[in-house]
Amino acid sequence: MNQIAYLDNAATTKLDPKVLDAMIPYLGEFYGNPSSTYSLGRQSRLAIESSRKQIAELLGVKPTTIYFTSGGTESNNTAISSAVKQLGCTHIITSPIEHHAVLHTVEHYSKDGKVSLSFVKLNASGEVDLFDLESQLADKTKAGHKCFVSLMHANNEIGVLLDIEAVGAISRRYGAIFHSDCVQTIGHYPINLSEAGVHFASASGHKFHGPKGTGILYVSEGTNFSPLIHGGSQERKKRAGTENVAGIIGFTHALALSMDNLPHDRSYISSLNKRMRMGLTSISQNITFNTDEKWLYTVLSVNFPAGSNTDLMLALMDRIGIFASGGSACSSGDDGGSHVLTALNNVHSGATIRFSFSKMTTVEDIDFAVESVNTILEKTGRPISA
Ligand code: PLP
Repeated sequence: MNQIAYLDNAATTKLDPKVLDAMIPYLGEFYGNPSSTYSLGRQSRLAIESSRKQIAELLGVKPTTIYFTSGGTESNNTAISSAVKQLGCTHIITSPIEHHAVLHTVEHYSKDGKVSLSFVKLNASGEVDLFDLESQLADKTKAGHKCFVSLMHANNEIGVLLDIEAVGAISRRYGAIFHSDCVQTIGHYPINLSEAGVHFASASGHKFHGPKGTGILYVSEGTNFSPLIHGGSQERKKRAGTENVAGIIGFTHALALSMDNLPHDRSYISSLNKRMRMGLTSISQNITFNTDEKWLYTVLSVNFPAGSNTDLMLALMDRIGIFASGGSACSSGDDGGSHVLTALNNVHSGATIRFSFSKMTTVEDIDFAVESVNTILEKTGRPISA
């Protein structure tokens, strides 16, 4: 394979070489267990605690509100299980387009009937109807429920953004606990979590050029929560297990690099996104987009003309070295199609492909992908636009 174009950065990103450099000493030389009291152990402890401090500064919160986890899935699970088991929430309001790490978890906790579940209304493009959220909160609270709201900051398939501060303010009015899955936004936007009004927020290192299997859960001051993983007393007894020291260093370094270069990277990635959109539009007027230009700039969800097929297009693209995804990568293997597009009644007869970009994507990648898509559509007999 000669040229490749990796256009699946919402699934995962390539580790930044600078992040790897920062991690290496903690994979070799500094191997002490952070719970050990001798100096080798204390060195690891110090690295963890200074990482926590640095992350807290970057996210506008206190270090004691940051807990290290194995990623977005664990952080989401911890927030949801805590709301149900520790915080006395008896009704969950979420949306049908959340990541499965939220959707399947809330379904799991509502199965025994002790917690009820409802979905907020979305408009046709996937934006949360804040009036409906408020009216559901008012009704449920009046009926004696304590509510838990879980709404993602940006959708990983179509990129729709949430007005997180507005949801924070509405949730507060009804004494509800608010969790936001910020996996696609932390590292990509300047975010001050204390101003966002969230009780819980989840982030994942591999979405911004950090290592896989690393994440954080932010828990606002004064919010009590219970561990998902029981055992030792790590993470102030909230997350047992010997810490992934090198992973924590990698997460922190990746976040610091992302925030340092954010304005530049954001405008560069947005320009690539626009270039791809324009390139595809010039192939056919029958190519449409599920992503609005004002949403998450790393993602472009594309509908190809009727007659094209998602699996076939992905396979043909793969053969020539273009890597993209049919929906979210975590769903590959599910053949039920995209739950996001299904929930939005946006299932159309052609292929739908998500392209997603990062600071490592090049203009050549975009042009190569657009050209190849055109060839694939011609070979597979797309109907030429009107
Ligand atoms: N939430 C969202 C919005 C995601 O996009 C992902 C990963 O695709 C996750 C959660 C899961 O994160 P992780 O892979 O770190 O478990």
